[in-house]
Amino acid sequence: MSDVEPTTAPTTGISTSAPVAMPTPSSARPKPGELTLAAPRGGKPPQHLADLDPAERKAAVEALGHKGFRAKQLSTHYFERLVESPQEMSDLPKAIRDDLVAKLLPQLLTPVRTQAADNGKTVKSVYRLHDGALVESVLMRYPKRVTICISSQVGCGMNCPFCATGQEGLTRNMSTAEIVEQVVQAARLLRRGDVAGGAEGAPLRVSNVVFMGMGEALANYGAAVGAIRRITDPAPDGLGMSARGITVSTVGLVPAMDKLAAEGIPLTLALSLHAPDDKLRNELVPINTRWSVDEAIDAAYRYFQVTGRRVSIEYALIRGMNDQGWRADLLGTKLNARGRGWVHVNPIPLNPTPGSRWTASDPGVEREFVRRLRALGVPTTVRDTRGSDIDGACGQLAAATA
Ligand code: SAH
Repeated sequence: MSDVEPTTAPTTGISTSAPVAMPTPSSARPKPGELTLAAPRGGKPPQHLADLDPAERKAAVEALGHKGFRAKQLSTHYFERLVESPQEMSDLPKAIRDDLVAKLLPQLLTPVRTQAADNGKTVKSVYRLHDGALVESVLMRYPKRVTICISSQVGCGMNCPFCATGQEGLTRNMSTAEIVEQVVQAARLLRRGDVAGGAEGAPLRVSNVVFMGMGEALANYGAAVGAIRRITDPAPDGLGMSARGITVSTVGLVPAMDKLAAEGIPLTLALSLHAPDDKLRNELVPINTRWSVDEAIDAAYRYFQVTGRRVSIEYALIRGMNDQGWRADLLGTKLNARGRGWVHVNPIPLNPTPGSRWTASDPGVEREFVRRLRALGVPTTVRDTRGSDIDGACGQLAAATA
C-alpha cells in the first residue's frame, strides 16, 4: 500500500504542512468468516475544523488565542466557499490565517491519482491519509444528480467474501473530517469542471452521498454520524446538503441500526442482505452469525417505523449462489410479512473482484429474480453499476491499490 507514488500533484489541499508520518502497516488478511468489530488503534489524524461542531470550533479558535468569530470565517471558507488555498481567505490577516490553517485545516487527504470512466462521468479518486493509508471515493454524475460514494474506514472488518475491501481486513477507522473531506474534494472537482456529463444547467453540486465505499460506516458510528451532521448542517456550519440525499449502507449491525433510527436524521438506510436464508447469508455476510436474516430485517423495519424513510435492501446477484427463483420468493415473503410499502429491493449484478471465482448472474436469471419480487408487490430496481472498468464499482475498492 505504501509504495504508490502520487501521479498527480496535490492540487486541492489547503495546507502542505501535514506532518510526514510512517505508513500504517496493512493488517493481516482475515481468515474466512473472521470478523473485526473493533478497529485497531493507530495514530490519530490531526484535528480538523470538520471534526468539530460550531461550539467546539469557537472554543478551539479561542484556545489558540484568537477571537471566537474567526471560527465562523473559517467555516465559511471551508464548507461554503470550498476554498482551496489559504491565500483566498482575504478576510483573515496573514499571521492569524497561517496559524488557524496550520491548526484547524491540515491537509488530511492527499490525492494520489484520479481515474475516469463512463466518458468522464465517473471519477474514482485515490487519496493518501496522514499515515500513508490509502482510501478511495467515487463521484458519479447523472443528468439530474451527482452522487459521491465515500469510504468510512481504511479497509473493512466485515469480511464478505465477494467484496475486495473485505478481503483486505480493517486497518483503521477514519475520522469525521477524513470522511467529510472526501465530499469537499468532490465538490471542488465538480466546481472546477473536471467531471463530464449532465444536462445543460444541471446543478454543479454534490446532491447525494452514499456510504458505500470502503468500510462499514456503522462500525465507525461516532465518526460517521459526525460526518453526516457536517454534511447536512446548513452553511456555513456545514455543507448544507439534504439528509434525504444520504444513504448509509450496512451489513446489518442491529444495535447501531436502532441507534441511527433514534438520531432523527431523515437519511436512507440500506441493508446488504444478499440472501434471505441464514445458511447462505452466514457465508456471504459473516456478521449474520451474530445477527440473523430475521433480526436484520426486523431492525430495517424498525428503522422505517421510527423515521418513515423507506429502507433499501441490497442484493448482489451471484451466479448459482443466491439467484434462484425460490430465494426471490422467500425474500419477498419475508419483507411482506413485516408490512407493505416500507422497503425497496436493489439487486446489483456482482462486480468481479480479484481471486474470486464468483460472477454475476445471467441476465435472464436476473430478470426472473426481479419479476418474482415485483409479482409479490415488492418495488424492485436493478442498481446501475458504474466504474467497473476502473475498479470503482461496488465491492471493488482497494482491489487495485493494495
Ligand atoms: N459495509 C457496507 C458498505 C459496503 S459497499 C455494507 O456492507 O453495506 C456497498 C454495497 O456493495 C454493499 O451492499 C455490498 O455488499 C456491495 N458489494 C460488495 N462487493 C460487491 C461486488 N463485488 N459486487 C456488487 N456489490 C458488491
